Amino acid sequence: MKRKIFVGVVILCLVVFVSAMRSDLAYGSRKFVSIASGWVVGVYFPLAGALSRIAHEKLPDIKITVESSGASVANAKLIASGDADLAILQNDIAFYALHGTKPMFDKAVPNIRGVAALYPEACHIHARKDAKIASVRDLKGKKVAVGPLGSGTEQNAIQILEAYGLKFEDLSKVERLSAAESADYLKDGRIDAAFYTVGVGASAIVDPALMIETLIVPIDGAEADALAKKYPFYAKDRIPAGIYKGIGDVPTVAVLAILVAKAEMEEDMVYRITKAMWENIGRIESAHAKGKEVKLEKALIGMPIPLHPGAEKFYKEKGLKK
Ligand code: GLU
Repeated sequence: MKRKIFVGVVILCLVVFVSAMRSDLAYGSRKFVSIASGWVVGVYFPLAGALSRIAHEKLPDIKITVESSGASVANAKLIASGDADLAILQNDIAFYALHGTKPMFDKAVPNIRGVAALYPEACHIHARKDAKIASVRDLKGKKVAVGPLGSGTEQNAIQILEAYGLKFEDLSKVERLSAAESADYLKDGRIDAAFYTVGVGASAIVDPALMIETLIVPIDGAEADALAKKYPFYAKDRIPAGIYKGIGDVPTVAVLAILVAKAEMEEDMVYRITKAMWENIGRIESAHAKGKEVKLEKALIGMPIPLHPGAEKFYKEKGLKK
């Protein structure tokens, strides 16, 4: 009897030990990849979430965890420090990061590599109608949110104001709020206007436009030309009517959102993530209206930094790159 109990206990211990080992192995073989995205009320965040779901379904050995952030400048710095493996950011900021352009970068981010160009991000200046801002010049003396800390938006705000002969000192108040906060401040009248460089249809702009009367300040004419001449990442763009309540078609400028990886990521892992993304693009398309503009044939257009070898391998296979 005693012998039987002893054998039973030994078998039980073995079973527990083996199953613990197995789950440990499964856990250990799973690679964790972080993606630095952007504002919860922006477009990077839902698209990064879609990429994470693609990995969950198609690449069971890779887990992509999504982090929200101030966005572009902060994300480039997370790549530099190795704290993020992947990131979404603006193409102008990726270029400035690689080259260590001041004032946003004290030092270069030599390990930033391209994975895919995604979609245009329009420069929005969202203003309360009662603030009577018809031109960028009218921002003089106004209370303005110039973009979250670490955003690409803030850099665009500086450059756009400059094209119209203005500086932050010309504004009566400069707010550096999160995108969600600046939408609230606009609704409450605590600010007159807010800058956002973001995919058209971002909830940071959709939501306040539903609650109060707003407009988008145009960026066009000689000033837009001068801006694009000095900073060639800007392309002329339009915010179509009907996206934001009460707002018609408005001329503006846009940069591009791109997906990047740190150079230290294994080639095969970046290759598999790139391939899975393009082969399951429906997930990206359904995550946000802007996802429908993410197209394989445009993946290398406007990419201002060298490709990661894993991404390059995929585009060579597809004949997009020699
Ligand atoms: N382009 C924005 C920035 O870097 C972020 C937009 C987003 O989160 O969708 O300022």
